Amino acid sequence: MSPVLMDGTAVSRRIVEQAAADAAALTAETGVTPCLATVLVGADPASVTYVRMKQNRSAKAGIRSRHVELPETATTADLVATLTALSQDPDVHGILLQHPVPAPIDERAAFEAIAPAKDVDGVTMHSFAAMAFGEPGFVSATPGGIMRLLDAYDVDPAGKHAVVVGRSPILGKPVGMLLLARNATVTYCHSKTADLAAHTRQADILVAAVGRPRFLTGDAVKPGAVVVDAGYNPGNVGDVDFASAAPKAGLITPVPGGVGPMTIAVLLEQTVAAARGQLTRQ
Ligand code: NAP
Repeated sequence: MSPVLMDGTAVSRRIVEQAAADAAALTAETGVTPCLATVLVGADPASVTYVRMKQNRSAKAGIRSRHVELPETATTADLVATLTALSQDPDVHGILLQHPVPAPIDERAAFEAIAPAKDVDGVTMHSFAAMAFGEPGFVSATPGGIMRLLDAYDVDPAGKHAVVVGRSPILGKPVGMLLLARNATVTYCHSKTADLAAHTRQADILVAAVGRPRFLTGDAVKPGAVVVDAGYNPGNVGDVDFASAAPKAGLITPVPGGVGPMTIAVLLEQTVAAARGQLTRQ
């Protein structure tokens, strides 16, 4: 069987084009260009690359970026103070804290210093609760991107068995809840799950959010399943072993070019929406 590739690059391009048009319309209306603040702690090479990528894509979509760098030695208090100041700055409409932050910092405390109205990466408890209750708010960007990719390929989660491997607060948990909201029957798997493959082999929709290169192989995939690989490991390698999984899958995301570009597209779309919310409320 030859699977259909879910082309996140192409789908994300359409979302970014729409975000750019919305940003231009907002700027024409209000005279203000939407601004995304990116905050980086330390100089982890992968994080530096991700932040730069987000800034470049922002610029192409007509979104300004303001970049703030804190040293590796920054404390939780330093980071909270930075994020609080950006939350209060009317010139900033969205805030992205590049994570993971260095280990001594309390990442949850830092996330919670982001004002919900500017939480365009969907990392605060407020955003999580709004998503869980089906109320308006910003979704966690990667899960939001995954749902948009499924929609673009007419994958309706209703009635399907979705198995999510991973339960992190920014990826595994929220993507499972978004699938549940769309009437999938959801199973979460994690590091303590017994007989993982027995679960994943039942998945009509299998989401890999593990952080282990090529972790899910073809024998973990039900024939014809929709396989979404959210993993992004050093060397541009996903959490799914594409070579063995693709022949079993009905639809599958490549890495790179699957979930990654969708994450940035949702981030930009939410930044423009945040700017509109803030500028038109004034
Ligand atoms: P994380 O916080 O490290 O969470 C990993 C999850 O995988 C945990 O829930 C863990 O279970 C589970 N896990 C670990 N080993 C396992 C095993 N042997 N069997 C089953 N489950 C296992 O990672 P994350 O932040 O969610 O990221 C996951 C992946 O997505 C990474 O590759 C990351 O780079 C990628 N990612 C990509 C994007 C993007 O834009 N494309 C964005 C964010 C993350 P426990 O909870 O039991 O520890």
